[in-house]
Amino acid sequence: MEYKTLAEVYNKLESTTLKLEKTEIISQFLSGVEKDELDRVIFLLTGDVYPGWSSSELGLSSNLMIKAISRAYGVTALEIEEGWKTLGDLGLVAEKYSVQKKQATLFSRVLTVRKVFDNLRKIGDMSGMRSQDKKLALVSELLGSVSNPFEARYLARTVIGDLRIGVAEGILRDAIAGAFFTNIYSKETLDQKVNSMTKLGLVAKYASGKMIAVDSKVDAYLLKKYEAVYTELKSSNVVVVRDVGVIGDDDLSTKKSGIDYVFFYDSSIGNETKSKIISSVEHAYNMTNDFSVVAQVARDDGISGLHKLHLTVNHPIKVMLYQKALTIEDAFDIVGKPAAIEYKYDGFRLQIHKTNEGVHLFTRRLEEVTRQFPDVVSAVSKNVSCGSFILDCEVVGVDRVTGKWLPFQKISRRIKRKYDIDEIVKEIPVTVHFFDAMMIDGKNLIDTPYSERRKLLESVVSCDEDVMVAKHIVTSQVSSAKEFYDESLSRGNEGIMMKNMSAPYKPGSRVGYGIKIKPTMDSLDLVIVGAEYGEGKRAGWFSSFNLACYDSDSGEYLTIGKLGTGIKEKVGEGTSFHELTELLKPHIIEEKGKSVTLKPTVVIEVHFEEIQKSLTYSSGFALRFPRLVRLRDDRMPEDSSSIDEISTVYGGQRGRG
Ligand code: AMP
Repeated sequence: MEYKTLAEVYNKLESTTLKLEKTEIISQFLSGVEKDELDRVIFLLTGDVYPGWSSSELGLSSNLMIKAISRAYGVTALEIEEGWKTLGDLGLVAEKYSVQKKQATLFSRVLTVRKVFDNLRKIGDMSGMRSQDKKLALVSELLGSVSNPFEARYLARTVIGDLRIGVAEGILRDAIAGAFFTNIYSKETLDQKVNSMTKLGLVAKYASGKMIAVDSKVDAYLLKKYEAVYTELKSSNVVVVRDVGVIGDDDLSTKKSGIDYVFFYDSSIGNETKSKIISSVEHAYNMTNDFSVVAQVARDDGISGLHKLHLTVNHPIKVMLYQKALTIEDAFDIVGKPAAIEYKYDGFRLQIHKTNEGVHLFTRRLEEVTRQFPDVVSAVSKNVSCGSFILDCEVVGVDRVTGKWLPFQKISRRIKRKYDIDEIVKEIPVTVHFFDAMMIDGKNLIDTPYSERRKLLESVVSCDEDVMVAKHIVTSQVSSAKEFYDESLSRGNEGIMMKNMSAPYKPGSRVGYGIKIKPTMDSLDLVIVGAEYGEGKRAGWFSSFNLACYDSDSGEYLTIGKLGTGIKEKVGEGTSFHELTELLKPHIIEEKGKSVTLKPTVVIEVHFEEIQKSLTYSSGFALRFPRLVRLRDDRMPEDSSSIDEISTVYGGQRGRG
């Protein structure tokens, strides 16, 4: 496939903000992709060349991109920087200069998806200081081979990790479902409007040439209500009018049934089938953390193939996330009674995998940290007695003399340390507190109820002073829960977790299967999405930071305020302006005057006095007096505080209860 074809799809995706339209665009495109190109195409649609479980990153800095554009198109770095300031996007800058270059040269080779993907993989796989030149050569080679300006735009954006096509995971999941399984629509959904268009109109716009089975009642209905659009749809598609009953799993696969769309009159039959398809794709993604595998299996092996996908040891899955509640009563309302209640330890989350070859540790960002924690590896090898496993735990730093927990900052030093590991192991010892099990003895436990997972966990972990299973009670009584909460706090923990006894393990979701309760609700984990350079003694550093929370529905970051306090002037006294600036600079994606837009990467914990309603920020809220508490380098941007969590805290503030 020519890269131009993919770039055209990117362009279509960029030109609409409608989720459903994006889904249709991708789904139509994927259904026509050749078998041996599907994985590369899926990766490039996610703007990455590695699956979600991989620690590898493409991660080229904007600075290197400037050099690559300069080399490919023969313009100076200064001109490119100027262009970047005006256009605010290195992709557009690359596009602009590629046009000039195009006029000057004649291209003989066609840039293919394969070539782009392979070069980008090579870049990601290279390491070490001396690799910079080779990376530069590979990127400029790609930029120099484009025959269409769009291609340069999306190439540059992919390389710096900022594709800007608004394709969140949910869209890709639905698009894979739409591409390889029958698209189910009921009379009601076809009637629904997205902006000014009905969904029927949207299908008509994208489904040209597809096979559509329509039940006779809905056929008559659509003909009467939407004569023009429906007649047009019929003229460009193979429409079979027949009474569609319940569809078996095999018939759902487009490849097997040959049917791309089914229109039902009765929404209840359709909705059930549709949610079966979506949940099968989602299940497969939860297992593999790799959309390229999901797409290939969906295409070739249908629903039953998706259900056969299994967890793989050493391919970390996304961790389950927890909602926040203000009171124990609220938490019981969400998780039900009786509930499991556990200490909420204040440390660092690790996903621990074991095969015959040994133990591997991954952070919640799914980065491998096995080397940094030889003490955890040996304690876990000794204390967990089963075959292959995947377990979830919190690792807490402990002062062996006083027995007290160490602050999070200490243990975060252990994660960053790449040398003299033995010394830091002695300086900052840790204890391991297991709280969940996703696989034990090779058996997948994702869909096993929590109460059983906990029993299995207890049966394989022998506890001592280094390794424990999270302290836990099961109760329906608010009074017992409160007592346990006080006990947890008195032991120096952060609060408690309350868990639904029969819930599955939901990777990457903040569903209400587990709730956290902490006494201080005046802190949030927020992502830095922009910054401004300071003046005077802070010249050259970022001095003000734009904060955002996460909206999992849209996959977007919504702004909530600016922060300039709590940051130290001097290095070594805590998080300094210098440190934050260094951390953020590689993630600049747009620069205008003193302001920069940043790729959401760095998460910080922020204290505030109050949350207010606001029209200034896209979240609809603003923080009063935000100040930085600490860097949360253990967090992915997607597991920063959610907009729902912020609404909960807002609602629980004085006088709003
Ligand atoms: P928060 O960091 O405020 O979103 O709270 C959730 C985090 O608490 C999890 O990601 C874990 O790192 C940590 N945690 C500590 N103890 C537990 C526990 N018993 N169960 C689940 N998570 C826990």
